[in-house]
Amino acid sequence: MDYRMPSYYNEFKCIADKCPATCCAGWAIVIDDNTLKKYNALQGSHGEFVRGNVDFKEQIFKRNGEDCAFLNKNGLCDLITKMGDEMLCNTCRRYPRHFEEYGNLVEAALSISCPVAAKMIIDNPAKDKFLIRHIDKISPREKEVDPYLLETLLFVRKKLFEIMSDRDISINARLEKVISVGESIQPSIYKYSRLGLKAKIKKHRDEILDKVKEKCTTSHNNKMRNMIARAKALHESLPEVQEKQGDRQGLMNSFMDMLLGLENINSDWPELIEDIKSTLYQNVTVEEYNRLSMEFEAYMKDREYEYEHIMNYFLYTYFLGGVYDYNVQAMVKMSLLSTLIIREMGLAHWIKNNKEFCVEDNIRMSYLYSRQLEHSDDNLMSLEGLLVAHPIFSAYNLLKAI
Ligand code: SF4
Repeated sequence: MDYRMPSYYNEFKCIADKCPATCCAGWAIVIDDNTLKKYNALQGSHGEFVRGNVDFKEQIFKRNGEDCAFLNKNGLCDLITKMGDEMLCNTCRRYPRHFEEYGNLVEAALSISCPVAAKMIIDNPAKDKFLIRHIDKISPREKEVDPYLLETLLFVRKKLFEIMSDRDISINARLEKVISVGESIQPSIYKYSRLGLKAKIKKHRDEILDKVKEKCTTSHNNKMRNMIARAKALHESLPEVQEKQGDRQGLMNSFMDMLLGLENINSDWPELIEDIKSTLYQNVTVEEYNRLSMEFEAYMKDREYEYEHIMNYFLYTYFLGGVYDYNVQAMVKMSLLSTLIIREMGLAHWIKNNKEFCVEDNIRMSYLYSRQLEHSDDNLMSLEGLLVAHPIFSAYNLLKAI
């Protein structure tokens, strides 16, 4: 088996009561079955104390308002302070570490929803690197994954990382290239998925690989022209959506509305989004919005690597999921949309903060957004469904929103 992790992965240390946004608040923490059994077996006052704060029906810790019932007024966990960290459930023990299994490959990540992890991900001018460790063991879940498709997607993702780390071109040009690659390979992957295992022949994998190679070697302008023409044709065949679309401002406004429609994880979230909408879209002309956006991008020019890391974080976490459902372009779109929304949150903050925006601000935007999306399976699934099916998330529109 192979284990892959970002180069900073093992350096993570929780700062507990010093944390500016503890993970012990704002979401329902799910308790695994083994830990629940352990809590049930506890004797005496410790048992009563623990069980009194557990909702056994929902398999979550009870909450005081937004906070986990075990979070004390000093910002520490009473399960740990009274009984030691062996009492933690799997979610709390692992967070913000996150694991995805793809047969014989396990990928570990730190969730950008944790402020310390977000800093490690974002506040680093160097390019992303990953470590691989091999152990002589076969995963019991080896057969759940088509190794041929996994190898193909690993190749494609490597290319996407190469595009994202090409600092000779602007961050916007890199984002455009990535969505263009995703758009070009998706039909071949669907074709591949329809063939059935026996017929999964080299031809279709080669077709995917050829498309990626072509996207990475031919002139960017030509690629984008073709891409936009194809997407435009699709867009024009959907007149009922056309009216709602148009400029980047209108699209970003619609994307923010979509966020308001998802399950609310943090009670401050709707107010934050309404505030962004009022700063950027309400009573702000398209010209003024475009001028401010360009000014902000120029302001961030020397720190484009922050958005490079954010985009890579989402690609790393989600892209290989396509090995199970074949929706790789939805995962590319999710990565791009997330990066654009975090940047848009930054733009609004920069305007309201007298045109100042430090890396700590960008870290905050990232973990707030991530908590809203990634701390809810329902939100992740809803967004994936929208990205696959809703025309407002066409590649053409996403290109216009970059
Ligand atoms: S969010 Fe991260 S740093 Fe903060 S308490 Fe949780 S694990 Fe620790």
